Amino acid sequence: MDLWFESALLEDGWADRVRLRLAGGRVEAIEAGVDPAAGDERHFVALPGLPNLHSHAFQRAMAGLTEARGRADDDFWSWRELMYRFVGRIGPEECEAVAALAYAEMLEAGFTRVGEFHYLHHAPDGSRYDDVAEMSGRIAAAAETAGIGLTLLPVFYAHGGFGGQPAGKAQAGFLNDVDGFAELVERASVKLAKDGVIGIAPHSLRAVTPEALRELLPVAEGGPVHIHIAEQVKEVADCLAWSGRRPVRWLLDEMPVDARWTLVHATHVEPDEVAGIAASGAVAGLCPITEANLGDGLFPAAEFMAQGGMIGVGSDSNVRIDAAEELRLLEYGQRLTRRARNVLAGEERPATGARLFEAAVKGGGRSLGVETGLAAGRPADIVSLDRDEPAFAERGGDALIDSWVFVSHRAVDCVWRGGVKQVAGGRHRQRDTIEARYRTALARLLA
Ligand code: ZN
Repeated sequence: MDLWFESALLEDGWADRVRLRLAGGRVEAIEAGVDPAAGDERHFVALPGLPNLHSHAFQRAMAGLTEARGRADDDFWSWRELMYRFVGRIGPEECEAVAALAYAEMLEAGFTRVGEFHYLHHAPDGSRYDDVAEMSGRIAAAAETAGIGLTLLPVFYAHGGFGGQPAGKAQAGFLNDVDGFAELVERASVKLAKDGVIGIAPHSLRAVTPEALRELLPVAEGGPVHIHIAEQVKEVADCLAWSGRRPVRWLLDEMPVDARWTLVHATHVEPDEVAGIAASGAVAGLCPITEANLGDGLFPAAEFMAQGGMIGVGSDSNVRIDAAEELRLLEYGQRLTRRARNVLAGEERPATGARLFEAAVKGGGRSLGVETGLAAGRPADIVSLDRDEPAFAERGGDALIDSWVFVSHRAVDCVWRGGVKQVAGGRHRQRDTIEARYRTALARLLA
């Protein structure tokens, strides 16, 4: 099938009057400066799909339920208490139903692949399902229903704090030993669609001992490795007390951190750690909406990007699923703390939204182990902008992306993932059935 666009952001820059020939889930050929042929689907503007590098899909179901103050020192840790109470009720059907809605909403927002940092492996009391990869299979099924690309990152979780402290009761459903985890990853990998990618996710330095972390790395078999790190000040203090080093410093010193790694959050970092991550080729997995929602703090993105550091964005808690807003908030956090504008604009690319979008497409691809960007031979993951959005009137090129990121309300028109149109007119083609199943699951979860 052929698609024709008035303009398109291709791998090597903007082009006008672009025809994309799709075949086998990929972009087979690209022609620029051509008229549409009879039968071509005609659209306004094509952008590459954006990877969402960090998600806990089930948390979509508790979005909005943690916005009332529980106690005076409300912070990440009190949020986690509520999240754990919620976890206690989630079984396979709830997991799949909630994830399917989250993934459909990601596609509607312009995300075409998700990195699912998946830790709900067992029943809430810790008992095993008959199939140890049951819950991973449910995540894969949800991704297939919604039609989003999946990089599954099964989480290794073994301890409740630095230095191998025992895990708490609420964490029983997350736990594995290294052998059990290797088996789980192997069984999960066969459940993925053919363009699925599997990696591993040691949860955090709180939850994994150095010995286990070293034993774990071969399980990834060259795939992506993701870890939560330095998200909260308490975590940094605990790590200092345990090892005498800050979490990112410890990781860079002790582990073979390279371009396969994604350091999720990396919020609290010193200049030497910023330089170390940038030099390693690892991706900083930033989740601006969730980090704002949880009151985590701000990653020094300007310093990091100035040193060639790769970033990507993730919707993490899924309290709000909005690709443009992740990029907008990333920039606005920097503006508010520096009292300056266009902080994350580039020397070569002064358009702030466009520069962040492109950085997140590239960094997200590296993080999730896939090729991104619109070019012949790459996956046909394409987002079209809505011609009827007044924010796009008389805009062209990078100003379109800036207007999406900073201005528009209804920017996304259609989304193709692996060459299949999953979203049309801003709405997922199966939204009604996915939503009905979600509502049924929520009624059980919150009964
Ligand atoms: Zn997370």
